[in-house]
Amino acid sequence: MLKEVLKQIERRNRFLLTSHARPDGDAVGSALACRQLLRSMGKEAEVVLHDGVPRIYQPLPFADEVIAAERVNGGYEAVIILECDSIQRTRLEGLENHFLISIDHHVSGRPFAHVNWIDPKAVATAEMVYRLAREAGADISPEIATCLYTALLTDTGSFMFEGTNEHTFALARELVLAGADPARCARNVYFAHSNAKMRLLGAALSNLHREGSLAWIWVTREQMYHAGAKEEDCEGLVNYALSIGDVEVAAFFRELPDGRFRLSLRSKGQLNVSAVAERFGGGGHKCASGCALDGPLAVAVAKVVDALRRHPSVQ
Ligand code: 5GP
Repeated sequence: MLKEVLKQIERRNRFLLTSHARPDGDAVGSALACRQLLRSMGKEAEVVLHDGVPRIYQPLPFADEVIAAERVNGGYEAVIILECDSIQRTRLEGLENHFLISIDHHVSGRPFAHVNWIDPKAVATAEMVYRLAREAGADISPEIATCLYTALLTDTGSFMFEGTNEHTFALARELVLAGADPARCARNVYFAHSNAKMRLLGAALSNLHREGSLAWIWVTREQMYHAGAKEEDCEGLVNYALSIGDVEVAAFFRELPDGRFRLSLRSKGQLNVSAVAERFGGGGHKCASGCALDGPLAVAVAKVVDALRRHPSVQ
């Protein structure tokens, strides 16, 4: 499928690149790297993201050229959707009538595009973009390497998640040799939080609940308002609950403006949380998944805790 993706790219000139709404490091880094790759091949390419670039990824090369929009206009010959398992998750309108190429590593990835390159064995979509660049015979510039390294760093949970293996480190090495600065990439992501995020973390941890090896936390709209926090400030909060020694699975609930709740699930590896999120209409990976649920909070929590409780690893 890699060859097919490259063949389809070679035939065309004007590309739009996008990813899921509320983009994470792999979404932003892979899209920015792919844009640079396409431009180095003499193509026109723009990155459009529904929610723009979160603060911690703004130092990435060319992040300032990302267009935040709700609708896609213009005659693109193809849209490349990276790290995203459906058109709906981009939240962009106007994609349907385009030739679509999907490059994704989600286990829950469904073939929704005209060309679907889905590789759940890839630790990050960044790994697939790197392979695409190699197949195209393109140079990995320091800027491409920085975007791909940041994507790899964040999607492997700083090389801590299940699935991180010798190939991950071999790729990281290639990217560092190509010019990525590991300390700077890590500093921009992990030591660049806003005061609001720290206040929100305090509120979330004050809501910590435990049952066996499950832990869950939440934030309400009111808590977000008082902390002065934005949606993107919620990224990664779930990991603080997972960091407790005898916790196997952690859940984070965030109240949405419409009163529903967005759920983030994380596992240390025993329980496949993608299967749990899929039961509620979401998806993701074995160790990291998400979905949206109806409120009120107590009902949403009860549904999720009940689904998780059925698994032997959390008894
Ligand atoms: P997060 O908890 O960081 O929002 O998401 C964790 C993982 O689950 C990411 O890989 C993300 O793409 C996936 N994910 C989160 N929410 C959804 C959803 O509503 N649908 C699907 N299919 N995947 C989701």
